Formats: sequence, C-alpha cells, structure tokens
Amino acid sequence: MITDECINCDVCEPECPNDAIYMGVEIYEIDPHKCTECVGHFDEPQCVQVCPVACIPTHPQHVETRETLWQKFERLTAAKQAAQGGGAAGSVPPAAASAS
Ligand code: SF4
Ligand code: SF4
Repeated sequence: MITDECINCDVCEPECPNDAIYMGVEIYEIDPHKCTECVGHFDEPQCVQVCPVACIPTHPQHVETRETLWQKFERLTAAKQAAQGGGAAGSVPPAAASAS
C-alpha cells in the first residue's frame, strides 16, 4: 500500500511489472489484486526500491504468502496472454520458394 506520505513523484508507476500502480484521487495507489510484490518478475518489490520517501509498506490487510503471490502472478500472466489473443493464429509460415 502507499501511505499519505507519497509525494506523487511518479517514479514507482512505470516500474511496476503488473501495472498495479495508478494515480488515485490524491496520491498514487496500488491495486492489491494486481500486485504480486513483484514475485515472478523481480527479487524485490520494485516500487519499494525506487520510492524516495519510503512510503510503500506491505498492506496489513493484504499479507500474502509467496505461494499465493506466485499463483496470482500465474493468473495475471494467463489473463494477459488471453488478452493478447493467445496462440499464434495468423502466423502462417511463408511457402517455400520453389525453384523452377
Ligand atoms: S510490489 Fe511490484 S507488483 Fe506490487 S505494486 Fe510494487 S512494483 Fe507493482
Ligand atoms: S515513488 Fe513513492 S512518493 Fe513517488 S509516487 Fe510512488 S509512492 Fe509516491
């Protein structure tokens, strides 16, 4: 979660691999359904690393195990792939040129 000490410096938002950070009414906020604490992408939470005022503690109501976070990562990845159209439909290999 992001506390009200946030100074809206815009640094964390582009660092999130899950697009979980967004501008709220007054300060940036984190969508807990999208945040995996960077599990699946990085060893450390990227937003916490870059925040200059250290205002991103773990949300006390969203304490999750690494396993739960990993499952969320897999769900998000599957959803992203589905949104992108899934398989390789349309990628028809070019016909081999035939020498005559
Ligand atoms: S911990 Fe990682 S996934 Fe969660 S909001 Fe921060 S950058 Fe995004
Ligand atoms: S990096 Fe920290 S201070 Fe900057 S916008 Fe994000 S939460 Fe706010």
